[in-house]
Amino acid sequence: MTFEYDSYRTWHNEKILTDVVSKLKKRDFDAEYFATIEETTEALTKAIPADAAVGIGGSVTVRELGIIEILEKRNNEVVHHWKPEAAKEKDRETRKKEGLADYYLTSANAITMNGDIINIDGIGNRVAHMIFGPDNVIIVAGHNKIVPDIDSGIRRSREIAGVINAKRVGAKTPCAETGKCVDCKAPARICRVTTVMQYRPWQTKIKVLLVNERLGY
Ligand code: SF4
Repeated sequence: MTFEYDSYRTWHNEKILTDVVSKLKKRDFDAEYFATIEETTEALTKAIPADAAVGIGGSVTVRELGIIEILEKRNNEVVHHWKPEAAKEKDRETRKKEGLADYYLTSANAITMNGDIINIDGIGNRVAHMIFGPDNVIIVAGHNKIVPDIDSGIRRSREIAGVINAKRVGAKTPCAETGKCVDCKAPARICRVTTVMQYRPWQTKIKVLLVNERLGY
């Protein structure tokens, strides 16, 4: 559904996202702005060679892009542990294999206005592969992931992404009941590793695509 005043919101998001693109470039990341999901998937299919193996992180954004289906249709080898047929007993092996792929495709929990990339993981495979493993990492994020600073990014990662992910996976945590993060000590706590990428780590090509759409959470 579109609303009469959407164009002003879109304009404002574009201003913010293009500014963050320039900040990310100053942090040695490659970065680009995209207006729509369609433009983003088109750019991804051009950026990822047809014969490349692609590992996919645990990311709702990536699933919402529809890129997995596009890559599979093109016969790219796509490795991801969310595959319905992925065997539970091979979960760890699959996550490791994602990090051995030529390209790793994922999102971020938050990106600051200054170009810091923030994530919170339960197992750590996603943040590990973003930092070191695949030669090429592509991070896609919608305008909803932009935050003013690192503190608000860590808060967002728990209070929005963490809470909704806990609900999604059926975690036995207080947030999955109440919708609120209480920085729990529950055995099933899913927020276990926090990373802040302040500059692109050496030896890994990292491209960040910022999209003027709401994607993931
Ligand atoms: S309540 Fe626990 S599991 Fe839920 S978001 Fe907060 S720290 Fe994470």
